[in-house]
Parts: sequence; structure tokens; C-alpha cells
Amino acid sequence: MSTTASTWTSQAAKSLYDMPLMDLLFRAQSVHRENFDPNQIQTSRLLSIKTGGCAEDCAYCSQSARNGSQLSASKMIEVERVLSAARKARDGGATRFCMGAAWREPKERDMDALVAMVEGVRGLGMETCMTLGMLDDSQVIRLRDAGLDYYNHNIDTSERYYPEVITTRSFADRIDTLNRVKEAGIKVCSGGILGMGEHAQDRVDMLVTLANLNPAPDSVPINMLMPQADTPLAEAKPVDPIDFVRLIATARIMMPASYVRLSAGRSEMSDEMQALCFLAGANSIFVGETLLTAENPEEDKDAVLFAKLGLRAETMAGRCETKAAE
Ligand code: SF4
Repeated sequence: MSTTASTWTSQAAKSLYDMPLMDLLFRAQSVHRENFDPNQIQTSRLLSIKTGGCAEDCAYCSQSARNGSQLSASKMIEVERVLSAARKARDGGATRFCMGAAWREPKERDMDALVAMVEGVRGLGMETCMTLGMLDDSQVIRLRDAGLDYYNHNIDTSERYYPEVITTRSFADRIDTLNRVKEAGIKVCSGGILGMGEHAQDRVDMLVTLANLNPAPDSVPINMLMPQADTPLAEAKPVDPIDFVRLIATARIMMPASYVRLSAGRSEMSDEMQALCFLAGANSIFVGETLLTAENPEEDKDAVLFAKLGLRAETMAGRCETKAAE
């Protein structure tokens, strides 16, 4: 399944977002059915391999050393611990294992262990994803050669609103890393966060940037801010659930072949809201109890929700069948 090349304007995307909700949902679900099994959800498991003490100043993040959070910095965990967590995730049905480190960028001394993690998780038959901050060319090549399938690097918000959230690296820095990863042949996972004080147009413009990466990212995580104590956004206003659903539907229409992932914030969503998000075209979730530092619904709660909605978790075998049919 390849992502479709497209050029979206800010205005066209906003008109879509503003459609009557029923029309928007119908269109999103129709696009979704042309590209995916509507009753199948991809599940990923995320492990923090190095927590806290990050040099960046992302206003939403409790791992930033600049945000005065109480979270203490840890060292990178050993490869064996990562592989044992991955094995557990695979046995629990996850098809992709995401490893996240709170870094501005990895150091050379970290690379051997990172490569061993990718090779080891790949060896367990899972897809691999990493989120490590900015990467230079040689780091991208080493990770690709080790078998890294996805690299996560979120653009977070619109280019206009970005400086309100992060000042230690620019929007252009983010796009550079995404281009480097894409050109090396690693699949791109990139999305953003709603609820940081941005306007609806910023949310839509974030999607315009992603859709116009050409190809669009293979995976688009949409997070709902979970305000963290001691961060500048600790008192941020909650996102309106219908606005959130609108953005998911708009993302589905603009990036028809991408996996659209419900990420952080799912623990705050009702079953009804999650069902609406799936109807709007979300087809990927994180499973497991924690998302780096924010809460995630417990797995048995997810199993109950899947059963209620008649959803199935995508399996590696199922994915291979879909690919073979392309
Ligand atoms: S979001 Fe990532 S880069 Fe930003 S402060 Fe947190 S860990 Fe660091």
C-alpha cells in the first residue's frame, strides 16, 4: 500500500475540517474503506529506553530538564531488557515495538546499543520503530541497515504555532530529520498534539504539512494533550472531543493510505469518543499502560472495547496478506 502524492492547501483542508460532521464522517469512512479493513486496528507497544533529563524545551513534556519537572533522568536501559519487553509485547499481540529516548539527538556512544535493539526486535518478528530526536546522515544509515522500519519524529503543531511550544530547535530542523529518514528508505511516523492553545487552523495546517511531505507519513499519531504537572502547559484547556474527531476524519481524508494513530490522551477518552475516532478513520493505537510518561488505558479495557465494537487487532500475517493482494 503506497501513500498517495497530493498537494493540499490550507484553505482546502480547513473547508474539509469545517464540513457538517455527518458529511465529514461519511467521507472519511468511505476513504478509509477504500484503503483499509475498517474493523482492523494496528497495535503498537511503546517502551521508554531513556527517560527524563532531555535538553529540549517542549512545553508539553515532563521529560524536559528545562521544565522543572520532578522526573529524574535515567540512563539508557540495557538491550536485554528491551528485548524481553518486546517479547512480552509480541506475545500480547502487538505487531510493532516502538522505542523512545528523551534526547535532543543520540550520541555516537549510544549507536551500538541502538543498533542491537533494532536487530533484536526485528529478530523477534516485530516491526521496529524508534524516536530518538534529531538524526544525522550516518545515524540514519546505521539504523536503516540494522532493519529499522519506522522513525517517529512529530512536527507537533503548525509551523506558525511551533515557536510557542518549542524554542530549542526549529520546525525546519524537524522537517530536515524527516526528509533524511524518508530518503534513506525508513518509513516515517509523524504527527502532533492537540490542546496546546493552538487554533483549529493550526491543527489543520499541521495536517497540510504532513500530507504534503509527499509521500505522506506511513503513520500519523494524533495526540490529545495530557497536561503534565510542572510543565508550561499544566493548565491547558481540554480539547473538545468533537474537534478531535473532526481532525482525525480530516487526517484520514488527506492521508488516505496512512495509519492514523490515536496516541496519548486515549485514557481520557470515553468508549463512545474512541468509537467515533475509529469511524472517522483512526486505525492504530498504542497498547500498554504507559506512553513514555502519560497514562494509557489498560490492555483488558482495550480488549473489552474491541469486543464491543467488533474490532480485531491487525496481525503481522494479516498485514502480509494485505500487502500480497496489492
Ligand atoms: S518531547 Fe522529546 S524532545 Fe521534547 S522535551 Fe520531551 S523528550 Fe525531549
